Amino acid sequence: MHDHRRLGRELELFDTDPLIGAGLPYWLPDGAALRHTLEEYIRTAERRAGYRHVYSPVLGKRELYETSGHWSHYSDDMFPPMDLGAGQVVLRPSLCPHHAVIYRSRAHSYRELPLRMAELGGMYRSELSGVLGGLTRVRAIQLNDAHVFCTLDQVADEARAALGMIRRAYAALGIRPARFRLSLPGPGGKYVAAPEMWRRSTALLTEVLDASGLPYEAAEGEAAFYGPKIDVQVADAAGRESTLSTVQVDFHQPERFDLHYTGADGAKHRPVMVHRSIIGSVERAVAHLVEQHGGAFPGWLAPVQLMILPVSDAELPDAEALAGRCADLGLRAEVSGRERGSLGARVRRARLVPYQAVIGAAEAADGLVALRLRDGRRPAPMPAGEALARIGALTGAHSTALWDEAEAGAAVRG
Ligand SMILES: [Zn+2]
Repeated sequence: MHDHRRLGRELELFDTDPLIGAGLPYWLPDGAALRHTLEEYIRTAERRAGYRHVYSPVLGKRELYETSGHWSHYSDDMFPPMDLGAGQVVLRPSLCPHHAVIYRSRAHSYRELPLRMAELGGMYRSELSGVLGGLTRVRAIQLNDAHVFCTLDQVADEARAALGMIRRAYAALGIRPARFRLSLPGPGGKYVAAPEMWRRSTALLTEVLDASGLPYEAAEGEAAFYGPKIDVQVADAAGRESTLSTVQVDFHQPERFDLHYTGADGAKHRPVMVHRSIIGSVERAVAHLVEQHGGAFPGWLAPVQLMILPVSDAELPDAEALAGRCADLGLRAEVSGRERGSLGARVRRARLVPYQAVIGAAEAADGLVALRLRDGRRPAPMPAGEALARIGALTGAHSTALWDEAEAGAAVRG
């Protein structure tokens, strides 16, 4: 594996500057394109799974986190509060309290449950040692988070569905989990004291993991302060493990925020909160993707999907026209012309780009495109529209394959 900090700089995905500060990376255009694609993939998967998105502010009053329990259990990881006249506000350490308040702001019937609320939102962690140049220990985090408010009977199904979303996302992203972990409380940690809640949520998560058939390990001392969780672990270039995805069953926050719904019996009942994150923080997910793929991202995720290479200046207008068609189709293409060196040098520089289209005099005259795939394959020259449709079909399906040979053969025969 590659170190994401070195490769991220080389590929011009992200960087840091001492003037902005340690642990506060900024994203360059190619990194922003990759991140935007990843975020849109997640939002689409969530919409399909019945989640609805909200936005909530990255600041909240100190009382919000006193209510959630973060203030007493998690303040070591929070930035100091800011005084604002009569009260104090803090940079939020998680999205959960805002979502609990959003749920509470409307009356809910059992018919609306499970109610699935998602957000890709900012949160902050007071890392003392922000490692310069990296995305894995950052102070400003974009979190893929969601909360399912449901009845006790629905918890296992929702947790199972969340695990399914995680596994589908990993298949599309080409991520191989290092292991699945059942994270339990351990000695010395700051946890809310409610033995019955811990017992019930641990039993539910164990049931979901056992039914999934996935191998997993239990680990003490890794739980959230308010409950146990399923963690999906990945390993970095140095072999260090970190948590990418989580599913948690929480009886505590609904209690603290006094959440309820009206049951079929007309009485008020307490919902359960399932916290789940498919890719965790966007920063950590991208760091892992860079290391896992060494910059050779799946075609649908690549910052530049098609590099267009006119052999000489005479083919530049055709190259620009092809780039325009790509933009119309939602494909990310770039023209790499003579000013960037010889054709051989330009081909080598674009070695991580999934598709290259070389346009020489013959191709320009016939309106054809000669594709070179990143893995070395060279399909026969074909009309530009066909080449773009093939690429679009694979990227639109979030495939990790670069070319569909069966499809290509059928098209030629047909
Ligand atoms: Zn949460």
